[in-house]
Amino acid sequence: MEEIILLKQGEMVLKGLNRRGFEEKLMGNAKRRLKRYGAFKVYTRQSTTYVEPQDGGADLEGAWEAITKLFGAVGVCRARACPKEKDAIVACAVEYLGDKLRAARSFKVESKRADKTFPMTSIQLSQYVGGELHDRFPHLTADMHAPELTVHVEVRDFDAYVHADPEPGAGGLPVGMGGRALSLLSGGIDSPVASWMIAKRGVIVDMIHYHSYPYTSLEAKEKVLQLARLLVPYTGKQCVHVVPFTKIQEELRRSCPEELFTILMRRFMMRIACRVAEKNGIQALVTGESVGQVASQTLDALACTDAVCTVPVLRPVVGMDKEEIVRIARKIGTFDTSILPYEDCCTVFTPKHPRTKPKLEELEAAEAVLDVEAMTAEAVEGIERIVLDL
Ligand code: ATP
Ligand code: MG
Repeated sequence: MEEIILLKQGEMVLKGLNRRGFEEKLMGNAKRRLKRYGAFKVYTRQSTTYVEPQDGGADLEGAWEAITKLFGAVGVCRARACPKEKDAIVACAVEYLGDKLRAARSFKVESKRADKTFPMTSIQLSQYVGGELHDRFPHLTADMHAPELTVHVEVRDFDAYVHADPEPGAGGLPVGMGGRALSLLSGGIDSPVASWMIAKRGVIVDMIHYHSYPYTSLEAKEKVLQLARLLVPYTGKQCVHVVPFTKIQEELRRSCPEELFTILMRRFMMRIACRVAEKNGIQALVTGESVGQVASQTLDALACTDAVCTVPVLRPVVGMDKEEIVRIARKIGTFDTSILPYEDCCTVFTPKHPRTKPKLEELEAAEAVLDVEAMTAEAVEGIERIVLDL
């Protein structure tokens, strides 16, 4: 009989009265991701969401891959359906979990009954299936407390299901429950990770990228779009705002002290992002900054960039070492693209001796010679929007 996918809900089960909303969002997000893999039925019972293929044409491998990236599920597993009859359940466990049963040293059987008309109690069913499996796999010892393998049996309305322990899911909360943020996405390692971390908390994440053509190549922009695309299976649909940034950089280089260039540039990035946020009902910005990583990420420098912001700035990797960030980048699949050798707009104009302890007054003095409002407005006006979808 057919195989299905089960999702165990995470912390959303603690949401009390809001829980129904979280479940609906999780199921809606699952359905959108599954569409391209064929016809699936998605429903939730007792904190478990079930994904059932509706016909032989459904691509279960593809669906499994997509579901492992779905925020809101702490655990995911595949289960095999069988008739609701005790010996059919044993036969299903032997066939479906045979390899695991052979490899394990200890096991137990855990049963759940949604169908209360089933003629055995959960305990009787566990004992029966456990006894039969033990006869067939005599090397196993029964261990009720810390078994290597738990054989789960669920007796539901139409079928019974057999599965092993769930694997870790993507965790977090369903995207869409936590508002909307705008992530400053560069071509580096950190900002894709930061974007992923905020999406994991249930936030819809749009991207903004500052492009310095012709100082940076079109390949550099394509690389950033590729990073954004790699995040879509996690974030769902997102809008990438591509900002023409060259004129601002040229103006800063012409008119401002070189050692303040980076931080002045970052203030412009923030101003533009805040403008986009306000126009689109976006509640926060996200960056991949980490304290002390570079001159513009000292506490003094961060305070100077925050000073121009009109919405909160979330910095999820702020306390992480590069190695920790790299580990996540590898896990989510962005690392290999991030390290492709394309220049980004920060490296093109980097001063030789950037100030690590800028003072707000000197930045404001440097900006006094500029028409900050007109420069910001022109950049916002020139934004190209690219929508990426599942
Ligand atoms: P990353 O690895 O994410 O590029 P980084 O260590 O290179 O970060 P910076 O270049 O100083 O650090 O940038 C800090 C943060 O500013 C980035 O994480 C990103 O959020 C944002 N940022 C930098 N450059 C750009 C850009 N061209 N477009 C959009 N955001 C940018
Ligand atoms: Mg960078």
